[in-house]
Amino acid sequence: MPRAVRLLPYLETIDANRWYTNRGELVNLLETRLGDVLGAGKAQVVSAASGTAAIEAAILATAGRATPRRPLALLPAYTFVATASAVERCGYVPYLLDVEPDTWTLAAARLNGHPMLERTGVVVPVAPYGRAIAQAAWAEFAARANVPVVIDAAAGFEALAADPARSTGTIPVALSFQATKAFSSGEGGAVIWSDADGLLRVVRSLNFGILWKRESTSAGMNGKMSEYHAAVGLAALDEWDHTARANRAAVESYDRAAQAFGIRERLVLAPDIASNYALLDAGSLAGASDLVAALQARKIESRRWYGYGLHHEPYWRNAQRDALPQTDRIAPSVVGLPMYCDISRDDIERTIETAAHVLASRQRTPV
Ligand SMILES: *Cc1c(COP(=O)(O)O)cnc(C)c1O
Repeated sequence: MPRAVRLLPYLETIDANRWYTNRGELVNLLETRLGDVLGAGKAQVVSAASGTAAIEAAILATAGRATPRRPLALLPAYTFVATASAVERCGYVPYLLDVEPDTWTLAAARLNGHPMLERTGVVVPVAPYGRAIAQAAWAEFAARANVPVVIDAAAGFEALAADPARSTGTIPVALSFQATKAFSSGEGGAVIWSDADGLLRVVRSLNFGILWKRESTSAGMNGKMSEYHAAVGLAALDEWDHTARANRAAVESYDRAAQAFGIRERLVLAPDIASNYALLDAGSLAGASDLVAALQARKIESRRWYGYGLHHEPYWRNAQRDALPQTDRIAPSVVGLPMYCDISRDDIERTIETAAHVLASRQRTPV
């Protein structure tokens, strides 16, 4: 995150303006600058208090709240729980779908003729670990099935910036700027969408259903980004080139260490995914458990960012769902390794050495 000294000019702007939240100068500036990076000249950006608020507002703006005829929201079982929380807060009952073995996300084509579609009010595909999702297939699906789609690309800032024309457009995309993500405003989020009227509905949903006139005309919440968070976002954007270079150096160190220890094919790194993640596919629950224990013994923290799949979270254990063989293979096996822009090469090499040792000893003793 940017240091205090980089925030100072923006904080002084807040003092001078005496404008603290409700779409002030800094929020507008951040949205304009993000639009230049992410919009490809057609999509625009509306900021939010969090990625989850951005998903909710995008759902309310495109699908509205759930109805008795269409109570379901379709989403992948392999995601962070926020996706399910967001649809639930818009009145939907989550229905969990399995992901593809190679991309770890939903395939639009596979939803054709799904028995739940007739009772579905919104589909929320997830860009796993910020991996790019093309708009085209989902725009086609939404038109053909006549079901609105909102893409949860929470960690997808870099994928969107790398190819905005492919990843933004008529389907609203939600981003998170939470501090674990590569680009962050501390807490925060945004919706990127080419539909200007739709974006006004996003603004309204993020402000209690109030737009222009002080009366509430739709479902809503307080999901606005404050000027203080916009200050952090602007400072983060000022130094983004530097951050991105540091991230690339960390990715290169992981890449080189993994090659040296012969486990490169197990690692998933940027630019395939967002650069705030370095993932290792241990191949099985047992392999991943050994890996986590071995890392912990050397005081190296690791994390299954998406748990074991939504259906293994206590609150969601009874969620309606398809069979989930891919999620049940991928989720327990994929372990998040330490990753941040100023991680040292020594720490990376120690992590990879530990991982390589675990994977090699498991190969020697098949179970
Ligand atoms: C981080 C994340 C969210 C939630 O974003 P917040 O800003 O923490 O609300 C939602 N979905 C996915 C896939 C995420 O990674």
